[in-house]
Amino acid sequence: MKKQITFILLFVFFTVLVHGQRKINRLPDLEGYVTLKCDLHMHTVFSDGQVWPTIRVDEAVRDGLDAIAITDHLEYTPLQEFVKNDPDAPWKISEEYAKERNIILVHGTEIGRNTMPPGHMNALFIKDASLCNKDSVWGCYEAAIQQGAFLMWNHPGWKNQRPDGIPKLYDIHYRLIEKGWLHAIEFFNNVDYYPLVLEMCKQHNLAVMASSDMHGLISDKYKKPEYINRPMTFVFAKERSHDALKEALFAGRTLVWFRDKLAGKEEFAKPFFYRCISVSKPYYENDKKIFIEVTNNSDIPFTLINGGKFPRTVFLEANTVTRIAVSKNAVFPLVYEAENILVGEKEFLKVELK
Ligand code: ZN
Repeated sequence: MKKQITFILLFVFFTVLVHGQRKINRLPDLEGYVTLKCDLHMHTVFSDGQVWPTIRVDEAVRDGLDAIAITDHLEYTPLQEFVKNDPDAPWKISEEYAKERNIILVHGTEIGRNTMPPGHMNALFIKDASLCNKDSVWGCYEAAIQQGAFLMWNHPGWKNQRPDGIPKLYDIHYRLIEKGWLHAIEFFNNVDYYPLVLEMCKQHNLAVMASSDMHGLISDKYKKPEYINRPMTFVFAKERSHDALKEALFAGRTLVWFRDKLAGKEEFAKPFFYRCISVSKPYYENDKKIFIEVTNNSDIPFTLINGGKFPRTVFLEANTVTRIAVSKNAVFPLVYEAENILVGEKEFLKVELK
């Protein structure tokens, strides 16, 4: 009997383990698209990271992500005395593991040089990372592009390479853009962000990206109360699949989210905001005020500022209904700037409550 109970308990224990648990992020879809939550830049022991590749998949499940890419450094492998030097090993180890856990795994690598230019570049959707390792950095890009790669310029204002923290496009980046070989730039990297990237992406029609660039454990780094989430790229894809993700990225349909800040092109930021909130009809009025409710159905809090008439500022907490008492002199719709939605280097998204 005792044996039987032990067996049943073990069975329950392993059943729970096998099924795992995925966090639900309350983030709306755009009309005609599903919002895929992605982190396409992270490391493992196969370069200078501290974890085994499958841990990255487990972290993605726990954080409710749809897609990740493990992008170990091609030319920097300080642990090769202890682990095999194979830039495709993280992919080989995690491919099946990710499929079982319903995580879209993107095959990637990071092509780096110690100086800026050119800095570091992720090659995503490649087939064989080992073929990308060439003496010249241009040769690396070319080999990646021949495999159909999506090239993302990483942390363009990284202080180790750009002491002022301000990204700058150099000749080599313009050459990549001219050839149509550069597809995206990181706006958020780890805990840093680079507002100028929004202007670069708008001007050159590139995707705006956010990545953790994690080397240690996600749960150690991005924890409450300081952080509510890890950096995420929202990709607006036609369906939840590897190929649809790739199509959407090449089309540049992204927004990025970290802490309370959302950023990207207005054409995606505006409909996304309106999918997050709904405004009620006035439910009561007296001599001075009209009362309405604004519901924020998302995990992202919004701070609305510079309203012309009272109230000048509205804070819409995540997953919360906010009551607003509007002055009777106010003209509808109420116009605001969303202080935590960046659509340009110094530009907030303009929104209306109507
Ligand atoms: Zn990296």
